[in-house]
Amino acid sequence: MQLEDIKGLGAKRIAKLHESGIYDPLDILLMFPSAYFDRNKVINWKEISPGTEVIFEAEINSPPVMRHVRKGLSYVKCEFNSFGTKVVCTWFNQSYIYRRLSVGEKVIISGKLKKITTFAEISAPKIIPSRAGNIVPIYKLPEGLNQKLMSDAVAALLTEINIQGYVTDEIANKAGIIPLRKAIYEAHFPTGIETAKTAVRSAATESLAYTLSMYRLLKCNTEKRRKFYGEHISQLNYAITDLPFQLTDDQKNAINKIVGHMCSDKRMNVLLQGDVGSGKTIVAFLAAYYAALGGYQTAIMAPTEILAKQHWKKAIDFFGSKGLKVVCLTGSMPAKDKAVVLESIANGSASIVVGTHALTGKNVCFNNLSLTITDEQHRFGVCQRGSLENKTDFADNIVMSATPIPRTLALSIYGQLETINLRQKPQKNYSIMTAIVPNHKINDMYGYIEKRAEVGEKTYIVCPRIESEDENSAVSTYKKLKSGALKNTKIALLHGKLSAAEKEMVMNDFAFGETAVLVCTTVVEVGMDIPDATTMVIFGADKMGLSQLHQLRGRIGRRGQKSYCFIAETSDTTGRLKKLCTCFDGFELAEYDFNFRGAGDFLGTRQHGRAETFAGIKIDAEILRNAEKLSTQLLSDPEISRALIKKADGKEEFIRSLSLN
Ligand code: ADP
Ligand code: MG
Repeated sequence: MQLEDIKGLGAKRIAKLHESGIYDPLDILLMFPSAYFDRNKVINWKEISPGTEVIFEAEINSPPVMRHVRKGLSYVKCEFNSFGTKVVCTWFNQSYIYRRLSVGEKVIISGKLKKITTFAEISAPKIIPSRAGNIVPIYKLPEGLNQKLMSDAVAALLTEINIQGYVTDEIANKAGIIPLRKAIYEAHFPTGIETAKTAVRSAATESLAYTLSMYRLLKCNTEKRRKFYGEHISQLNYAITDLPFQLTDDQKNAINKIVGHMCSDKRMNVLLQGDVGSGKTIVAFLAAYYAALGGYQTAIMAPTEILAKQHWKKAIDFFGSKGLKVVCLTGSMPAKDKAVVLESIANGSASIVVGTHALTGKNVCFNNLSLTITDEQHRFGVCQRGSLENKTDFADNIVMSATPIPRTLALSIYGQLETINLRQKPQKNYSIMTAIVPNHKINDMYGYIEKRAEVGEKTYIVCPRIESEDENSAVSTYKKLKSGALKNTKIALLHGKLSAAEKEMVMNDFAFGETAVLVCTTVVEVGMDIPDATTMVIFGADKMGLSQLHQLRGRIGRRGQKSYCFIAETSDTTGRLKKLCTCFDGFELAEYDFNFRGAGDFLGTRQHGRAETFAGIKIDAEILRNAEKLSTQLLSDPEISRALIKKADGKEEFIRSLSLN
């Protein structure tokens, strides 16, 4: 069955539908209603104030009137009866409405109440034809389709098409979702508002579960290992006992899993997630050590120069004692130094290569790269990260993040990654008090910061932008404080536009020198480690995701000292920032923000609209979780697995979980 076979769809409308990405009947079935209207709901007009959005069913009282006021201006006016109250609706320049309204007919009206006296007034509301059943679905439709056409098309399609999901009724019941066939029917012809909503969520869950399963199968079917490391467990264990601290159980588990992958016959792709301070670096180093024991190179890529240098220093401590050479490559290095580093990468004398995205440059030739490690991966664009992997065939990959990413989003960016979580924190007493500071208390706060400075403690003041008219920019905040509230304190400015040398100087003076207060942008977000920093002020927090804010405050109290994070009051009244004050679990905050703000933060941009929705509904954390469980269930069913594998091998488009016949 084709779109052309649907009654009412001519070439013109079909062209319009194509523009909205609708190509076949399935797309129409998957256009779920954006809302449902309950016809039994009583509306009490006396209690509704002007400006309120209303949706109600009403009967047309008297024939509509159309007037031509002057050339180019006409209106249609019509009276309705809703629970004994007269409602007058007016439309300007929409003469087609006139033909749609006939006395005695019942319609659903949706719009904003303009005025209410002895009667109610609404201008330009939407008119939706009423239909049988207590619950009426309301579609957000592309141009060219109207509500009536839509429900007729769906009704026709549902009788013509046999929808076949991959999930059997039995598995669906186990997973707590409505089987697809029923779900689609219920979504379009609902028996109740709650069941309709559950149906839509079920369909989304099933479709995502399918996608996930396909990716999982593709990965394990095609990606055979080509680089073999050999057995070096005893050396690895020795390195672990030689550490100045005991690994946490989570760290042990992570390294076990990673080495397990490295010893298997499949290529490794893992996402190592853990809060700020959970100790991801040492896990990465141990993996790199294992690769080096097998005679291979590892590349460790960090998003900023500051962080790359920090890793470099730590790597020298760790690997140096093992006789392994570590080099660091960044974009701002002098050409002479760069040539030396490039040579040692190419001839293989450097076992561990740390750097910024300069590592992906054309002039970088690895000798025998087998492991790539990308730190704080959400900071990199997909292309940048991909090009590091492409430096060699069949490298194993670890990406690390302090911003837990919902699985399906990770998948849509990176393909399927196995997630390993570090939930424990090695350091105890990791306590950072977080509070929202109202505007009239800001000066008291600066007084507090001065006192901290007197006893040698350091403060970050984080601003959302480098420079702008806005008084919250780093440059203007710095100027204001230097000659004002903090004029007696040594204060410095750090942002991304400074040269590498300037940055280094500012950072050094903040870490080891006199600088007590650092006004900066979110460049401090990733990885910076200043042990004496105990206070942080964040301006413009309403513009930042909770995960990002949580990472920022992870920069203070690094030794478990009592520390304060002050969130300057913003116009955000959603309670999101209050959540930050009471919750210190990065995983929980990520889920909360995902439900609240959608996927944008995790994708590093709010523009990737498509990845966060399925058939018009927002994919939230619960749907993701259920989809993942369902996928695991599907893959444990041999028959379903076989069917899926056949599809995966054929490399058919596998986003669809439905087949039509
Ligand atoms: P992140 O996960 O934020 O990248 P790091 O790897 O930088 O965290 O670790 C934070 C700090 O904790 C480092 O100084 C590191 O040396 C230390 N650390 C890591 N693991 C442990 C452990 N098991 N016990 C004590 N300290 C540890
Ligand atoms: Mg880190």
